[in-house]
Amino acid sequence: MSGEIAFGLAISDNCACHPDKARRHCSIVAAGRSGSGKILVDLAPFYDHPRGAVKRAAGLYESHSPVAMALDPKSQAATLKKPLMEAGIIVAELLVEDVAVAHGEFLDLVDDGGLEHLNQAAMTAAVRAGQQRRLAGALAWERRVPVDQSPLEAATVAVWAFRRWEEMSQPGVYAV
Ligand SMILES: [Zn+2]
Repeated sequence: MSGEIAFGLAISDNCACHPDKARRHCSIVAAGRSGSGKILVDLAPFYDHPRGAVKRAAGLYESHSPVAMALDPKSQAATLKKPLMEAGIIVAELLVEDVAVAHGEFLDLVDDGGLEHLNQAAMTAAVRAGQQRRLAGALAWERRVPVDQSPLEAATVAVWAFRRWEEMSQPGVYAV
């Protein structure tokens, strides 16, 4: 990935390794354009217990100057908002309709072969287990499936934030 990137953050609601226990995993996913022009999502920035997430996010913010650091405030990641802001990070929050748009755009990208992800086990497992729920007349990822969905959710909000930045900064260039 070269050029500008956005980060998305999410915290697990459920996972196979900690049955019925929320908040055991946090994902910080980077989204940007790969060399091939597709959107690449990368879980490498952070996949660990949420307690280390703010420190890591602050480091990423400093080292990468991302175009956005995004999260869904109506998710487990909501608790990150205050400490991130206290660390001087500008947090992009998705409205309910943004979550629906983010989900739909992500599915379309996958459908059209426009998305790449690296072969990262937690991301691959999340994508395979992904299911959908109704949200605001549209769809979003179901968080209660027994496989940690935080990599997928973080990827979805990261892609949303990255594309909004592209639209603002380079109108027409990536018009579909
Ligand atoms: Zn777990």
